[in-house]
Amino acid sequence: MSKDTIKIFDTTLRDGEQSPGASMNTEEKIQIAAQLERLGVDIIEAGFAAASPGDFDAIEKISQRVKNSTVCSLARAMDSDVKAAGESIAKARLKRIHTFIATSPIHMEYKLKMNPDEVIKRAVRAVEYARTFVEDVEFSCEDAGRSDIGFLKEISDAVIEAGASTINLPDTVGFRLPFEIGAMVKEMSDYTKGRAIISVHNHNDLGLGVANSLEAIIHGARQVECTINGLGERAGNAALEEIVMALKTRSDVFTNFKTNINTKEIYPSSRLIATITGIEPQPNKAIVGKNAFSHESGIHQDGVLKNKETYEIITPESIGLIKDDTLVLGKHSGRAAFKDKLAKLGFTLNNDALNSSFERFKILADRKKEIYDDDLRALVTNEMTKATQVYELISLQLMDCSGGVPSAAVKIKKENDEIIEAGIGEGTIDAVFKTIDRISGYNGKLEDYKVKSVSEGKDALANVTVKVSFNDEPAIIGHGLNIDTMLASARAYIGALNSYLSMEGKLKERPHKVML
Ligand SMILES: [Zn+2]
Repeated sequence: MSKDTIKIFDTTLRDGEQSPGASMNTEEKIQIAAQLERLGVDIIEAGFAAASPGDFDAIEKISQRVKNSTVCSLARAMDSDVKAAGESIAKARLKRIHTFIATSPIHMEYKLKMNPDEVIKRAVRAVEYARTFVEDVEFSCEDAGRSDIGFLKEISDAVIEAGASTINLPDTVGFRLPFEIGAMVKEMSDYTKGRAIISVHNHNDLGLGVANSLEAIIHGARQVECTINGLGERAGNAALEEIVMALKTRSDVFTNFKTNINTKEIYPSSRLIATITGIEPQPNKAIVGKNAFSHESGIHQDGVLKNKETYEIITPESIGLIKDDTLVLGKHSGRAAFKDKLAKLGFTLNNDALNSSFERFKILADRKKEIYDDDLRALVTNEMTKATQVYELISLQLMDCSGGVPSAAVKIKKENDEIIEAGIGEGTIDAVFKTIDRISGYNGKLEDYKVKSVSEGKDALANVTVKVSFNDEPAIIGHGLNIDTMLASARAYIGALNSYLSMEGKLKERPHKVML
């Protein structure tokens, strides 16, 4: 018997990006999209084109890059949004417009101030207009979890007639329990059978996002919307890796289903998103948390040594966490070994990126004895996601005698000029950042600062993530990677500045946050 494919619709770049502090630059979004394609995601929701010129630009670039996944752009049910969505994905090989309107009584009455007939009219118009740009249109009944089932059927009839082929039923506020989702999906998929695919989009406010998605699959959903690491607004979305691994690990229950996901790309995807957003999954997070595969306690360890299956229901290898191979390269490793290793980790670099990464690897290998997979992942990600470097750090000198005034001298290259400045601050980091501001003339406001060690040991690489807002525009993230935390901090701050300059003027509008 042939198995039903469960389509995996990833919304890390749209819903995930809305988590506080997760905004990314265009280069970072492109790298994530490329990784999602390697992961085998069916549909990549690349963004909300009408939100800002920066969002539009990123979706357009992703559309040119991604070939094997459908690129999807979100639009509210209004002409200007649908037009922006359609134009942003015009160059994609496979494309979809995803449009939506609220269908719950509370949203229709208080937010939209529209009666149900008007809501249906708007939805139909949006779908019809979307079909003038693409064949593949998805319609979402926002807040379906609190909508009347009779009305869901009525609006579904209308939008399917207008040309929508996927009906998504989001539990926007994460309120529903599995049996309720199951009942809604069963009724809707029986009702629309053969006319449309039923999809779910479950938020995790009660910690039930994944459970609700699995229940939906059992009752007829053939698409699930989810994010890597469960990223997303508030408590986040259903986690892609948990849904996929539950289907795979319990194939005895989910006998009739398969996904197109290459599970070996799960761990690399999780690391990439954590590195770029600076949001680490909790250590005990299922599948991708730091502790998900360590069996520390003596009894467990003994069991695992005797037979892995005693306590391990999933192998680390199956998600691409290569366990016995973590110690990799050193000082004497050549370019070929470096390139091989990167390929094994799933990176395909063009020559320029390979050269600059190798150069950075050599510098690191001089100072760090053992270089682990995670070090390499961080280094290459950092290299590949850099915005155009308007400013580049040449050197940094610090003075912070106890009781004295913290001061910094910074040398920065801008085009062909080298600029040196010195300054003081409340603390060393403040002194460094203020001095960089004096050189650039941009006034940065530091909103968040995080240091994480990439691997273990005293000589571990420091990965610094800063969130800075320049000229009162929305904050932007910067990353810096170095053995020296201060150097990493300076690089992170300059990284944020370069990202900002690459998007200057494109960030300002983002008038409407989408709740879906
Ligand atoms: Zn959502």
